[in-house]
Amino acid sequence: MIVVGAGSAGFAAAVAAARAGAHVCVLEKSGAVGGNAAFSHTGFRAAYDGPDAIAPFVADLAGYELPGYSVADYAADLDRFGVPPALRDALAGDSYAALEWLRELGVRFTFNRSLHGRFEPGLVLAADGLVAAWERIAAAHDVDVWVDAPVERVVVDEGVLVGGVFMRADAVIVCSGGFQADAARRRRHLGTAGGVVRGSRHDTGELLEALIEDGAARAGGWGEAVITPVDAASPPAEGGNRMNRYSYPYGITVDAAGRRFFDEGSGLLADTYAVVGRLVLERGGAWQVFDAAGTRLLKRYAYDFATPRRADTVAGLGIDGLEETVRAFNAACPDGPFDPTRPDGRATIGLDPPKSHWAVPLREPPFRAYAVTGGVTFTLGGLAVDDGARVLGEDGAPLPGVFASGDVIGLFHGGYPSGAGQTRNVVFSRRAAASATGRA
Ligand SMILES: Cc1cc2nc3c(=O)[nH]c(=O)nc-3n(C[C@H](O)[C@H](O)[C@H](O)COP(=O)(O)OP(=O)(O)OC[C@H]3O[C@@H](n4cnc5c(N)ncnc54)[C@H](O)[C@@H]3O)c2cc1C
Repeated sequence: MIVVGAGSAGFAAAVAAARAGAHVCVLEKSGAVGGNAAFSHTGFRAAYDGPDAIAPFVADLAGYELPGYSVADYAADLDRFGVPPALRDALAGDSYAALEWLRELGVRFTFNRSLHGRFEPGLVLAADGLVAAWERIAAAHDVDVWVDAPVERVVVDEGVLVGGVFMRADAVIVCSGGFQADAARRRRHLGTAGGVVRGSRHDTGELLEALIEDGAARAGGWGEAVITPVDAASPPAEGGNRMNRYSYPYGITVDAAGRRFFDEGSGLLADTYAVVGRLVLERGGAWQVFDAAGTRLLKRYAYDFATPRRADTVAGLGIDGLEETVRAFNAACPDGPFDPTRPDGRATIGLDPPKSHWAVPLREPPFRAYAVTGGVTFTLGGLAVDDGARVLGEDGAPLPGVFASGDVIGLFHGGYPSGAGQTRNVVFSRRAAASATGRA
């Protein structure tokens, strides 16, 4: 069996297939394994019943709130991003079992980032050293991993073309990621090639396109990508999590003219960050502005690495129009308690655009302004698959012998609930391996 791409989806598929008795070869185009996971802290969103369900994964639960996140909660979150029902039920329903499988294989977990011991719903655990763990586990399962092996074409029902050479396989599982690292494809499908790529520079989408030319059907949001706010000084690719600028719910974001242009407090970070980056990109960049009280909430998101403008007055930040914006914003903030750990209902009054939660006046000097741009994380347009991760043709029938998992499958529209990417990789890679080995 051939698995294309040695990211986290590829490794999961390869190991699952090897455990089912297949001889597996992973073909990776770049010189290194890991794909986007190498740039990520690999948070996993999973349904869980409460503290007892988390206890097997981490040593000490003291100080954390673990209220549970049901399969129905997860399914409802996936519904907001247009995931087709059969695939939604697969992902939500298998999510906890996916984490158990990883743990049994020897992947270690830690707590995801929390704020005062509280997590975004379902986003409790992160894998610790996932890429190194996969390398170890794959070797223990006699999986061959070949780097510098770019696959040019999947020959349906026969194998692949790699470096001009045909390799026969009983089944091919495609895990080659999205097309976010290819500027021309971004411009064609997303309408813009702006911003930076947060992860691997090798996810360029050529195999995805070749499969579509050969009759695979498309699914997911083809005009869309997860685009998040990142430091404006990020490198063009592979800046990773260090560049994240995710504390916008605790301040305001303004464009070059000093105007707010979206509701920074419309919901939990996990639900909004994928959309906010796109809005920032549409404005050609933006400033995130915080006062000293807001700044105290920033540390969890690596703002320490940034070089903000800093001043004792709002005017001193040197952003046209900002003083007036802050004056109007402060006047619209209500009284009442502020709770950064949950949507607190502290909404502006009579302001357009509103700030629906966490509306606290910016008063305490020093003030800081962080320049941000859009960081393209992964594209949402991909291959249509069924709940057995079989790649579907235009006629809705599976292409014989071709399976897929990870960012290369089209699942989400308009964003994704954060942490659902890594979990999707495991769930659909296991299903792809089961379908593929059942066939072989
Ligand atoms: C900075 C960052 C942080 C993230 N954090 C999280 C998180 O915490 N939780 C979460 O759920 N999601 C997160 N994501 C989302 C993440 O992109 C995906 O969910 C996941 O990593 C995709 O895995 P994948 O294996 O499908 O693709 P990738 O990891 O992109 O791997 C694809 C691999 O295929 C190879 N390849 C491409 N084309 C070919 C070819 N033609 N032949 C051979 N090989 C090829 C590539 O080189 C690459 O190694 C994050 C993404 C980024 C960029």
